[in-house]
Amino acid sequence: MKMKPVKKFSFSKNVVTILLVFMIMAAVSSMLSGQFSQIREIPVSELVSEIKAGNVKSIKVEGSKLKVTLNDDSVAVSKKEDEAALSQTLSNYGVSAEDLAKISLDVKGPSGFGFWLGATLPFILPLLIIVFFFWMATRQVKGANLQSFSFGKTQARMISPDDKKEKVTFKDVAGISDVKEELNEIVEFLKYPKKFIDIGARIPKGVLLMGPPGSGKTLLARAVAGEAGVPFFHLSGSEFVEMFVGVGASRVRDLFKVAKSNAPAIIFIDEIDAVGRHRGSGVGGGHDEREQTLNQILVEMDGFEPHEKVIVLAATNRPDVLDPALLRPGRFDRRVTLDLPDVKEREEILDIHSKGKPFAEDVKLKVIAERTPGFSGADLQNLMNEGAILAARDGRKKISQYDLIRSIEKVMLGPERKSHLLTKEEKKITAYHEAGHALVSSVLPHADPVHKVSVVSRGRAAGYTLKLPVEERHLYTKAHFLDEIAVAMGGYTAEKIIFGDITTGASNDLKYATEVARSLVVRYGMSDKIGPVAWGGRYEPIFLGKDFSSEKDYSESVAKEIDAEITRIMGEGQKKAEENIIKYRQVLDEIANVLIEKETIENDEFDAIISKHGIRPKKGEKEAVQL
Ligand code: ADP
Ligand code: MG
Ligand code: ZN
Repeated sequence: MKMKPVKKFSFSKNVVTILLVFMIMAAVSSMLSGQFSQIREIPVSELVSEIKAGNVKSIKVEGSKLKVTLNDDSVAVSKKEDEAALSQTLSNYGVSAEDLAKISLDVKGPSGFGFWLGATLPFILPLLIIVFFFWMATRQVKGANLQSFSFGKTQARMISPDDKKEKVTFKDVAGISDVKEELNEIVEFLKYPKKFIDIGARIPKGVLLMGPPGSGKTLLARAVAGEAGVPFFHLSGSEFVEMFVGVGASRVRDLFKVAKSNAPAIIFIDEIDAVGRHRGSGVGGGHDEREQTLNQILVEMDGFEPHEKVIVLAATNRPDVLDPALLRPGRFDRRVTLDLPDVKEREEILDIHSKGKPFAEDVKLKVIAERTPGFSGADLQNLMNEGAILAARDGRKKISQYDLIRSIEKVMLGPERKSHLLTKEEKKITAYHEAGHALVSSVLPHADPVHKVSVVSRGRAAGYTLKLPVEERHLYTKAHFLDEIAVAMGGYTAEKIIFGDITTGASNDLKYATEVARSLVVRYGMSDKIGPVAWGGRYEPIFLGKDFSSEKDYSESVAKEIDAEITRIMGEGQKKAEENIIKYRQVLDEIANVLIEKETIENDEFDAIISKHGIRPKKGEKEAVQL
């Protein structure tokens, strides 16, 4: 557990306060004793000699204080020991009884506020200081608690819909029109909840925004709140877990409470993977604090009803590590993926961030967009800013194209971006590779249809082809598996046919195809040669990761046969891919060229391309598969 120090006890401030109290007390006590201040103070010895000289008229005794009135009516004060009686003291000093008899003695018990205070102050003052000190200290602790527990005020940042400066709408988010369309439903609900509630529509409680860093997840979440005109409560997952155990959970509780009292509202949990990691997957049973926080999020999300009009948005760039419990219905059951922008989107983003920046005539944002594949929205914003800085440094009033081009490199040299960037040649290879997958997928009858093809890098793969299964399937046929293997080999095969060489980009595909082939033989008994036996059946729950390895429960000779069978199936898959790629070479070229130019082909456009060549598009619906 990481502990954050409680707000530093501000000692200097306390010292000042205490000094102040001291000074006030000193002033009060000196004021109270002020009545004596003008009066002459005489030692007992002098008093004694005055008495002996017969100059003393009367003595008033108040405790140890003596108020002496002389014959000339002047007044003096003196002191005696507390315990001893005055007569005793005086006789000790040698005053005779006769001398004493001439003086009127007025003995009063220790009384009078000033006197009383004077007597008790030495005891009470330290006590008061101690009490005061404790009081200050408890106040400090309370303050610290207030800080960590009520974060409506401090921790969660709220953006109110009236905050014109902070307000962001869909207009400020370039591209990703499909995502915006999907989120529009949420906006509608927050704007006109009655319409939806009356008809009994179930509105998602949680939407998970997934995408690489800088792809605009935070921006988009804010834009949803801005569009709907509702308050936006923003908290980062890592902020939940930085303090003491239990604080995260209570922060979650508070966050939801505050949001509900401000409903309709949006709660945005950024970087939810910081709390929402697969529970219990870490060594040593996981992280208590994180688990508690996550559990509380789940409890809160289960606990509120649609009429409470609070929608939870969350963002992550690691959807793969999320706890499956988060993704269950009634929680983050709506998932939206933000990809890195393609050429057109990049130009739009550059355009948005060129607002308020004076450009020279030679600036062509389209050219910049073409030169920045793999840049995220944040990178592009950064690029624009760097351009402005370069111009300003040279003392120019306008940003030139050259400034922007130089900025590309500057941003590229920034953290980790380089690996995403494709050279022209790499882009061409990637385009043919993805086109190969897509083409084979659309011509083989049992393969899933293509949803989207892209050469914009995503994760570690250079490009990707998204396929949509025709319907949600629970049973897969052997024919389907065989076609899928051919599709997976499509990228590899296309590279080989077009460039006469293969790249490392195909390695994932080969791994995937081999896995499918192995399952087909070993697990599903679909191979005629090996027969209907399921081998390696024991898939143990593994301590560290998920499916670590399966136990081998067959002999070496069977292993040899299995390997031979897998190799045969793979070879057949490759042959099938090759035949189709050669047969439809023209289509392949066209898909690849469009990819080189536009970087991304959505399903409608893809269908249009293949239809033109007489291939009938298939229709798919469900969850996309990435190759
Ligand atoms: P993420 O949360 O996905 O890491 P952000 O939302 O913080 O990314 O984006 C960082 C910045 O990049 C934003 O503030 C915005 O200026 C810019 N940006 C990202 N995507 C877009 C986009 N689609 N349109 C306009 N600006 C964008
Ligand atoms: Mg963010
Ligand atoms: Zn591939």
